[in-house]
Amino acid sequence: MSAPAPVRRRLVIVGSGPAGLTAAIYASRANLAPLVIAGVPSGGQLMLTSDVENYPGFPEGILGPELMDRFRAQAKRFGTEFWEANVTRVDFTHRPFRLEAGLSGTVEADAVIVATGANARWLDLPSEQKLRGKGVSACATCDGFFFKGKELAVVGGGDSAMEEATFLTKFASHVTVIHRRDGFRASRILESRARANPKIGFRLSSEVVEVLGTNSVEGLRVKDLTTGKVETLPVGGLFVAIGHDPATEVFRGALELDEHGYLKTRDLTRTSVEGVFAAGDVYDHRYRQAVSAAGLGCMAALDAEHWLVEQAQPHAPGHVASAPAPSAR
Ligand code: NAP
Repeated sequence: MSAPAPVRRRLVIVGSGPAGLTAAIYASRANLAPLVIAGVPSGGQLMLTSDVENYPGFPEGILGPELMDRFRAQAKRFGTEFWEANVTRVDFTHRPFRLEAGLSGTVEADAVIVATGANARWLDLPSEQKLRGKGVSACATCDGFFFKGKELAVVGGGDSAMEEATFLTKFASHVTVIHRRDGFRASRILESRARANPKIGFRLSSEVVEVLGTNSVEGLRVKDLTTGKVETLPVGGLFVAIGHDPATEVFRGALELDEHGYLKTRDLTRTSVEGVFAAGDVYDHRYRQAVSAAGLGCMAALDAEHWLVEQAQPHAPGHVASAPAPSAR
């Protein structure tokens, strides 16, 4: 049996976190009838977050998965179509672009927005996984506020670890930075700032081997890698700051990536291929916030919409099928 013929869409959005779904809300209100290839699991990093207290418009706070449900309902309301699938292959060498999404099928698109995000790296300890969202976090900006007056630990030796440790001293009574080597890779300035902070202590050549606690973090078992000795460190929270992995593997070779695997962009949302736009943490490794990702999703949708309108002009290179008039906002 031959494979079903590809479907054709004006705009395909890959990813369903705050960036992808905001792009979908804007694009569907602009009559582009976007298809979102949502990814499995869908919804992005907020699906793993409990209380979100810094998303504007929710003064009482909101659970991460509920916030993403609302984004999705809003996108659906204006006609966004969803495929619950991962993109398995792309061809951006000519237009229409082509994206394969396993059993869901293949789609040809006039324009694409990549909003696949980035995933925080974890220590991969079962005890860490059990307590994620219950005292184990990968985002000090998001969760630091919940740890007023507590002793905390940060794992990592890069800029994020130094920055997060310093930030956490606004709330914590003390922060211990635990790093597996005896030297940091962080920039001199961020390391010096952390070292000068009287609330920050350091455990070098050490690794966390277990996170203690049932419903909240009560301490860590920390192994000294020089002596092999394991000690308990009594802390009320653990912040893992060992880097992020952008979800760009499927775009390798199709779009330009930087040395860490993030999408390279110019003019904020434009990737190395004209007509393919980017939004959110897949290229923004600086802010990494739901609200900044949503803002970038909005920008990518507006840029894609304007680009499609330009392409529909008869004189445009790579002229594509008729485009709608720019939407009134
Ligand atoms: P990073 O530079 O890759 O550092 C990750 C750290 O985590 C390293 O010290 C690494 O140890 C450690 N690590 C990795 N896997 C580990 C594991 N399984 N167990 C224990 N430790 C582990 O990541 P980042 O700090 O998130 O920074 C990412 C990029 O963003 C960098 O280019 C950084 O300069 C930039 N950034 C800049 C700023 C700023 O300028 N304000 C702030 C944040 C981030 P080893 O050192 O032993 O490899």
